[in-house]
Amino acid sequence: MAETIRVTVWNEYRHERESAQVAAIYPEGIHAMIAAALRGQPGLTVGTATLDEPEHGLGEQALAETDVLIWWGHKAHGEVRDEVVERVAARVHDGMGLIVLHSGHFSKIFKRLMGTSCDLKWREGNDHERIWVIEPGHPIAAGLGETIEVGPEEMYGERFDIPVPETLVFISWFNGGEIFRSGCCYTRGRGKIFYFRPGHESYPTYKHADVQRVIANAVRWAAPTAGPRPTFGNVRPYEC
Ligand code: ZN
Repeated sequence: MAETIRVTVWNEYRHERESAQVAAIYPEGIHAMIAAALRGQPGLTVGTATLDEPEHGLGEQALAETDVLIWWGHKAHGEVRDEVVERVAARVHDGMGLIVLHSGHFSKIFKRLMGTSCDLKWREGNDHERIWVIEPGHPIAAGLGETIEVGPEEMYGERFDIPVPETLVFISWFNGGEIFRSGCCYTRGRGKIFYFRPGHESYPTYKHADVQRVIANAVRWAAPTAGPRPTFGNVRPYEC
């Protein structure tokens, strides 16, 4: 394991360049906001990558030098090339952590790794979001109170068509009455995956201190560990 955790924050980076409203909140992009928050944390080396870079900024070397990949996408999921999706999936199986944010629920990589539609209910209407911490002993909940008052946000509601999470750390409540499994942990191969719900582009959610804390905690939780690389295929017996 590397001495520092090498983080790559990936963003499709389209809303911020096409919408004055979104650009006013994130003038340098959602990825830059998240990266700046993580750079304030000890033990992390943080870079960024975006959709319109060659190979979406996720070439072989870039991925080999990434311990944890953070993913924000929304309107351009279909433009992410399948070969890059397969490359990311292979790295996750080999141990790279993956943190999927908000509308990344519909990204090719999340659906590929979940194996379900990952569909949900949604509404843009300034619902108030309150996140309940339901596993207070989990490392991703470190330093939080019982709830995170996110404030006005897009609503996501159940059913969220995902596999049953290995650990469900957070549940969101919205004042429209819906609830949502908003902090979901998975393992795929040697890699850990965390889905975290908040972060619609038209709200300043990634400036929220507790949201930043969750992402930083999730980076540390998802970082690769020194577990064995399994071998597969036909084998001789261990005992004769
Ligand atoms: Zn959204």
